[in-house]
Amino acid sequence: MRLIKEISQMKDYRKKIKAPQTVGLVPTMGAFHEGHLCLIRKARQQCDKVVVSVFVNPIQFGKGDDYQRYPRNLSEDIELSEKEGVDVVFAPSLEEMYPQDYSTFVQVGGPLSSTLEGASRYGHFKGVATVLIKLFNIIKPDFSYFGEKDYQQVLIVKKVVDELNLDTQIIVLPTIREKDGLAVSSRNSYLNKEERKAATVLYEALKRAKLWIKEGERNPFSIVSKMKDLIRKEPMAKIDYVAVVNLETLEKVEDIRGEVLIALAVKIGKTRLIDNSLLVAGCSYLQKKEKRI
Ligand code: AMP
Repeated sequence: MRLIKEISQMKDYRKKIKAPQTVGLVPTMGAFHEGHLCLIRKARQQCDKVVVSVFVNPIQFGKGDDYQRYPRNLSEDIELSEKEGVDVVFAPSLEEMYPQDYSTFVQVGGPLSSTLEGASRYGHFKGVATVLIKLFNIIKPDFSYFGEKDYQQVLIVKKVVDELNLDTQIIVLPTIREKDGLAVSSRNSYLNKEERKAATVLYEALKRAKLWIKEGERNPFSIVSKMKDLIRKEPMAKIDYVAVVNLETLEKVEDIRGEVLIALAVKIGKTRLIDNSLLVAGCSYLQKKEKRI
């Protein structure tokens, strides 16, 4: 396995791989967990060469966000990558990606990027789109792997790839969870013991929402209100948003029919966590018929 830190070297490596050989990219901010490893394993199964990028992208963090304290653990990420049969870990420095006079950004317009995470984290998706376009241009992956945990990110990436006519195919994998349902996340490492326990309230709320819908509740306002009541019972939790939205447009739905996404962002102490659940209303086996993008 190679560790590459320079863009020019990464490009040289890529140039030597010719079709029909394929390249898969797993873009990450490092501090690997099982969610990252599942993406890497899928890429390993599907592609001839697997590149994992590790870069904590400052421009997707807002003021007061956790950029400085975001967990960084490159040596362990390298070890894990090696174990999983990754071909290249691409870990550029900040200066390599954004030199002093850097000034080009990808602005994602439209309602997809202004709702949910876009509304709460101003400029977040501009940062995400910019770094991903840079990575796609440097690595030219045939396939790129993303987690459903960041559902809105996936929709936006797909739109950007489509609208900017890029050639990479976006592959999306389901959210990996801890035994108690908490979605695994690099940010879970911020949680102390009590907060970790309190954090299960996100999954609990999603699970209960599914149950209410299964039992026949079709009013999204009632679902959101009951979810908020449940979350508020946890003293450490502070709700940012809870929403029942259309799977493709992320607009709030008036009525729960067919496929919907339930998304939420909740602060547990100082740690902001997100989660979501995709479901199909009106199916008798809601759990089994969960939709995947
Ligand atoms: P990050 O390092 O947090 O930027 O995440 C890198 C990739 O891993 C993104 O595509 C995330 O959606 C994905 N990811 C993060 N957490 C999970 C999870 N619990 N299950 C599946 N994928 C995840």
